[in-house]
Amino acid sequence: MLEIKGLEVKLEEEDKQILKGVDLSVEAGSVHAIMGPNGSGKSTMSYVLSGRDGYEVTGGSATLNGEDLLDLDPEERAAKGLFLAFQYPVEIPGVGNMTFLRTALNAQRKLRGEDEISSTEFLKLVRARAADLQIDAEMLKRPVNVGFSGGEKKRNEILQMAMLEPKMCILDETDSGLDVDAMKLVSDGVNALRDEGRAFLVITHYQRLLDHIRPDVVHIMSNGRIVKSGGPELALEVEKNGYSDILSEVA
Ligand code: ADP
Ligand code: MG
Ligand code: MG
Repeated sequence: MLEIKGLEVKLEEEDKQILKGVDLSVEAGSVHAIMGPNGSGKSTMSYVLSGRDGYEVTGGSATLNGEDLLDLDPEERAAKGLFLAFQYPVEIPGVGNMTFLRTALNAQRKLRGEDEISSTEFLKLVRARAADLQIDAEMLKRPVNVGFSGGEKKRNEILQMAMLEPKMCILDETDSGLDVDAMKLVSDGVNALRDEGRAFLVITHYQRLLDHIRPDVVHIMSNGRIVKSGGPELALEVEKNGYSDILSEVA
Protein backbone atom coordinates (compact mmCIF):
# COMPACT_ATOMS: atom_id res chain seq x y z
CA MET A 1 0.00 0.00 0.00
CA LEU A 2 2.69 2.48 1.05
CA GLU A 3 6.05 2.05 -0.62
CA ILE A 4 8.95 4.33 0.29
CA LYS A 5 12.24 3.89 -1.49
CA GLY A 6 15.49 5.68 -0.70
CA LEU A 7 13.66 8.78 0.50
CA GLU A 8 16.00 11.69 1.09
CA VAL A 9 14.72 14.97 2.50
CA LYS A 10 16.33 18.24 3.50
CA LEU A 11 14.91 21.36 5.08
CA GLU A 12 14.10 24.12 2.61
CA GLU A 13 15.25 26.89 4.96
CA GLU A 14 18.64 25.52 5.90
CA ASP A 15 21.03 23.07 4.35
CA LYS A 16 20.19 20.24 6.70
CA GLN A 17 19.64 16.70 5.48
CA ILE A 18 17.08 14.97 7.70
CA LEU A 19 16.03 11.82 5.88
CA LYS A 20 19.01 9.98 4.41
CA GLY A 21 17.46 7.15 2.42
CA VAL A 22 14.36 5.73 4.08
CA ASP A 23 13.11 2.39 2.78
CA LEU A 24 9.74 1.21 4.03
CA SER A 25 7.03 -1.00 2.64
CA VAL A 26 3.66 -1.24 4.39
CA GLU A 27 1.23 -3.78 3.00
CA ALA A 28 -2.57 -3.48 3.15
CA GLY A 29 -4.11 -4.92 6.30
CA SER A 30 -0.97 -4.54 8.39
CA VAL A 31 0.19 -2.43 11.30
CA HIS A 32 3.78 -1.24 11.29
CA ALA A 33 5.33 0.58 14.23
CA ILE A 34 8.24 2.99 14.04
CA MET A 35 10.32 3.66 17.12
CA GLY A 36 13.55 5.58 17.44
CA PRO A 37 15.36 8.23 19.44
CA ASN A 38 14.15 11.84 19.35
CA GLY A 39 15.38 13.71 16.32
CA SER A 40 15.63 10.60 14.10
CA GLY A 41 13.30 12.05 11.48
CA LYS A 42 10.09 10.18 12.29
CA SER A 43 7.86 13.27 12.29
CA THR A 44 9.68 14.67 9.27
CA MET A 45 8.85 11.52 7.33
CA SER A 46 5.15 11.81 8.28
CA TYR A 47 5.06 15.48 7.31
CA VAL A 48 6.74 14.85 3.97
CA LEU A 49 4.30 12.04 3.19
CA SER A 50 1.34 14.27 4.04
CA GLY A 51 2.68 17.10 1.86
CA ARG A 52 3.61 19.74 4.38
CA ASP A 53 5.63 22.77 3.19
CA GLY A 54 9.19 23.46 4.21
CA TYR A 55 10.86 20.25 3.05
CA GLU A 56 12.69 19.41 -0.14
CA VAL A 57 12.76 15.85 -1.40
CA THR A 58 16.27 15.37 -2.77
CA GLY A 59 15.97 11.71 -3.68
CA GLY A 60 13.86 8.57 -3.65
CA SER A 61 10.14 7.98 -4.00
CA ALA A 62 6.93 7.38 -2.09
CA THR A 63 3.86 5.75 -3.60
CA LEU A 64 0.39 4.92 -2.29
CA ASN A 65 -1.15 1.95 -4.07
CA GLY A 66 1.32 2.46 -6.90
CA GLU A 67 0.59 6.16 -7.34
CA ASP A 68 3.31 8.75 -6.80
CA LEU A 69 2.42 10.64 -3.64
CA LEU A 70 5.11 13.29 -3.70
CA ASP A 71 3.69 15.04 -6.78
CA LEU A 72 0.23 15.52 -5.26
CA ASP A 73 -1.23 18.38 -3.21
CA PRO A 74 -1.94 17.56 0.44
CA GLU A 75 -5.71 17.52 -0.28
CA GLU A 76 -5.24 15.05 -3.12
CA ARG A 77 -3.13 12.79 -0.91
CA ALA A 78 -5.89 12.84 1.68
CA ALA A 79 -8.54 12.12 -0.93
CA LYS A 80 -6.49 9.11 -2.04
CA GLY A 81 -6.72 7.82 1.51
CA LEU A 82 -3.67 9.12 3.37
CA PHE A 83 -4.22 10.38 6.91
CA LEU A 84 -1.81 11.80 9.46
CA ALA A 85 -2.69 12.16 13.14
CA PHE A 86 -0.34 14.86 14.34
CA GLN A 87 2.12 14.63 17.20
CA TYR A 88 1.05 18.18 18.07
CA PRO A 89 -2.57 18.62 16.91
CA VAL A 90 -3.29 22.15 15.68
CA GLU A 91 -5.94 24.41 17.19
CA ILE A 92 -8.30 26.09 14.72
CA PRO A 93 -10.03 29.00 16.44
CA GLY A 94 -13.38 29.99 14.97
CA VAL A 95 -14.03 26.66 13.26
CA GLY A 96 -16.43 24.33 15.04
CA ASN A 97 -15.26 20.76 15.36
CA MET A 98 -18.32 19.32 13.61
CA THR A 99 -18.17 21.89 10.82
CA PHE A 100 -14.53 21.00 10.33
CA LEU A 101 -15.25 17.27 10.14
CA ARG A 102 -18.11 17.71 7.72
CA THR A 103 -16.15 20.09 5.50
CA ALA A 104 -13.15 17.75 5.42
CA LEU A 105 -15.32 14.75 4.65
CA ASN A 106 -17.17 16.52 1.85
CA ALA A 107 -13.99 17.99 0.38
CA GLN A 108 -12.56 14.47 0.09
CA ARG A 109 -15.78 13.12 -1.38
CA LYS A 110 -15.77 15.91 -3.95
CA LEU A 111 -12.20 15.20 -5.03
CA ARG A 112 -13.20 11.56 -5.46
CA GLY A 113 -16.25 12.55 -7.51
CA GLU A 114 -18.68 11.37 -4.83
CA ASP A 115 -21.84 13.09 -3.50
CA GLU A 116 -21.84 15.11 -0.28
CA ILE A 117 -22.91 13.34 2.87
CA SER A 118 -26.46 14.29 3.96
CA SER A 119 -26.95 16.14 7.27
CA THR A 120 -28.83 13.22 8.80
CA GLU A 121 -26.23 10.68 7.74
CA PHE A 122 -23.40 12.92 8.95
CA LEU A 123 -24.98 13.53 12.35
CA LYS A 124 -25.64 9.85 12.86
CA LEU A 125 -22.06 8.97 11.94
CA VAL A 126 -20.34 11.69 13.96
CA ARG A 127 -22.41 10.97 17.09
CA ALA A 128 -21.67 7.26 16.94
CA ARG A 129 -17.96 7.70 16.31
CA ALA A 130 -17.65 10.42 18.99
CA ALA A 131 -19.44 8.23 21.54
CA ASP A 132 -16.95 5.41 20.91
CA LEU A 133 -14.17 7.83 21.85
CA GLN A 134 -16.10 9.36 24.76
CA ILE A 135 -16.13 12.74 23.04
CA ASP A 136 -19.23 14.59 24.22
CA ALA A 137 -21.61 16.87 22.29
CA GLU A 138 -20.05 19.99 23.77
CA MET A 139 -16.58 19.03 22.47
CA LEU A 140 -18.06 18.52 19.02
CA LYS A 141 -19.36 22.10 19.00
CA ARG A 142 -16.25 23.79 20.30
CA PRO A 143 -13.61 25.18 17.90
CA VAL A 144 -11.23 22.45 16.72
CA ASN A 145 -8.85 21.55 19.58
CA VAL A 146 -9.10 25.02 21.19
CA GLY A 147 -8.78 24.61 24.94
CA PHE A 148 -8.78 20.80 24.59
CA SER A 149 -6.50 18.91 26.97
CA GLY A 150 -3.63 16.91 25.48
CA GLY A 151 -5.64 13.72 25.73
CA GLU A 152 -8.76 15.31 24.22
CA LYS A 153 -6.73 16.56 21.25
CA LYS A 154 -5.37 13.08 20.61
CA ARG A 155 -8.84 11.53 20.86
CA ASN A 156 -10.08 14.20 18.48
CA GLU A 157 -7.39 13.17 15.96
CA ILE A 158 -8.71 9.61 16.15
CA LEU A 159 -12.26 10.92 15.67
CA GLN A 160 -11.11 12.66 12.47
CA MET A 161 -9.55 9.42 11.32
CA ALA A 162 -12.66 7.40 12.14
CA MET A 163 -14.82 9.88 10.20
CA LEU A 164 -12.61 10.10 7.13
CA GLU A 165 -11.99 6.33 6.92
CA PRO A 166 -8.57 6.66 5.29
CA LYS A 167 -6.65 3.75 3.78
CA MET A 168 -3.20 4.57 5.06
CA CYS A 169 -3.22 5.94 8.61
CA ILE A 170 -0.11 7.44 10.14
CA LEU A 171 -0.22 8.12 13.89
CA ASP A 172 2.65 10.27 15.11
CA GLU A 173 3.10 9.75 18.85
CA THR A 174 -0.64 9.72 19.38
CA ASP A 175 -0.01 8.03 22.72
CA SER A 176 2.22 10.75 24.18
CA GLY A 177 0.41 12.69 26.88
CA LEU A 178 -2.35 10.11 27.24
CA ASP A 179 -3.30 8.57 30.56
CA VAL A 180 -4.00 4.85 30.70
CA ASP A 181 -7.75 5.20 30.08
CA ALA A 182 -7.33 7.58 27.15
CA MET A 183 -4.72 5.27 25.65
CA LYS A 184 -7.20 2.41 25.84
CA LEU A 185 -9.85 4.54 24.07
CA VAL A 186 -7.43 5.57 21.35
CA SER A 187 -6.20 1.99 20.89
CA ASP A 188 -9.75 0.63 20.76
CA GLY A 189 -10.54 3.31 18.17
CA VAL A 190 -7.59 2.22 16.04
CA ASN A 191 -8.30 -1.49 16.46
CA ALA A 192 -11.93 -0.96 15.42
CA LEU A 193 -10.65 0.47 12.13
CA ARG A 194 -8.24 -2.38 11.43
CA ASP A 195 -9.26 -3.89 8.15
CA GLU A 196 -7.80 -5.84 5.23
CA GLY A 197 -7.98 -2.76 3.04
CA ARG A 198 -6.35 -0.42 5.52
CA ALA A 199 -2.86 -0.09 6.97
CA PHE A 200 -1.37 1.75 9.93
CA LEU A 201 1.99 3.27 10.61
CA VAL A 202 2.24 3.89 14.34
CA ILE A 203 5.08 6.09 15.54
CA THR A 204 5.67 5.68 19.25
CA HIS A 205 8.28 5.78 21.96
CA TYR A 206 6.49 3.30 24.15
CA GLN A 207 5.91 -0.41 24.12
CA ARG A 208 2.72 0.29 26.15
CA LEU A 209 0.75 1.38 23.10
CA LEU A 210 1.92 -1.68 21.19
CA ASP A 211 0.42 -3.92 23.87
CA HIS A 212 -2.95 -2.55 22.75
CA ILE A 213 -2.28 -2.04 19.06
CA ARG A 214 -0.37 -5.17 18.19
CA PRO A 215 2.04 -4.41 15.31
CA ASP A 216 3.00 -6.91 12.61
CA VAL A 217 6.35 -5.24 12.05
CA VAL A 218 8.47 -2.92 14.19
CA HIS A 219 11.08 -0.60 12.67
CA ILE A 220 13.79 1.37 14.38
CA MET A 221 14.64 4.75 12.85
CA SER A 222 17.87 6.48 13.64
CA ASN A 223 19.60 9.42 12.04
CA GLY A 224 17.29 9.60 9.02
CA ARG A 225 17.15 5.92 8.15
CA ILE A 226 15.35 2.74 9.13
CA VAL A 227 18.22 0.80 10.65
CA LYS A 228 16.47 -2.33 11.87
CA SER A 229 13.14 -4.10 11.37
CA GLY A 230 11.65 -7.06 13.18
CA GLY A 231 8.57 -8.43 14.90
CA PRO A 232 6.82 -7.17 18.04
CA GLU A 233 9.71 -8.52 20.12
CA LEU A 234 11.87 -5.66 18.83
CA ALA A 235 9.67 -3.20 20.74
CA LEU A 236 10.10 -5.24 23.90
CA GLU A 237 13.85 -5.18 23.41
CA VAL A 238 13.76 -1.37 23.15
CA GLU A 239 11.61 -1.14 26.26
CA LYS A 240 14.05 -3.30 28.18
CA ASN A 241 17.43 -2.07 26.96
CA GLY A 242 16.82 1.28 25.25
CA TYR A 243 18.19 2.04 21.79
CA SER A 244 21.91 1.95 22.47
CA ASP A 245 22.41 -1.84 22.07
CA ILE A 246 20.49 -1.95 18.79
CA LEU A 247 22.22 1.15 17.44
CA SER A 248 25.71 -0.06 18.25
CA GLU A 249 24.86 -3.47 16.77
CA VAL A 250 23.83 -1.96 13.41
CA ALA A 251 26.58 0.69 13.37
P1 ADP B 1 11.54 12.77 15.48
O1 ADP B 1 10.11 12.92 15.11
O2 ADP B 1 12.11 11.43 15.15
O3 ADP B 1 11.80 13.14 16.91
P2 ADP B 1 11.93 15.04 13.73
O4 ADP B 1 11.50 14.61 12.39
O5 ADP B 1 11.01 15.89 14.51
O6 ADP B 1 12.40 13.78 14.58
O7 ADP B 1 13.30 15.83 13.59
C1 ADP B 1 14.43 15.32 12.90
C2 ADP B 1 15.55 16.34 12.92
O8 ADP B 1 15.23 17.42 12.07
C3 ADP B 1 15.83 16.94 14.28
O9 ADP B 1 17.22 17.12 14.39
C4 ADP B 1 15.10 18.26 14.22
O10 ADP B 1 15.69 19.20 15.07
C5 ADP B 1 15.26 18.64 12.77
N1 ADP B 1 14.17 19.48 12.25
C6 ADP B 1 12.95 19.05 11.85
N2 ADP B 1 12.20 20.08 11.42
C7 ADP B 1 12.97 21.17 11.55
C8 ADP B 1 12.79 22.56 11.25
N3 ADP B 1 11.63 23.00 10.72
N4 ADP B 1 13.80 23.41 11.49
C9 ADP B 1 14.97 22.96 12.01
N5 ADP B 1 15.23 21.68 12.29
C10 ADP B 1 14.25 20.80 12.08
MG1 MG C 1 10.23 13.51 18.78
MG1 MG D 1 8.41 13.41 16.24
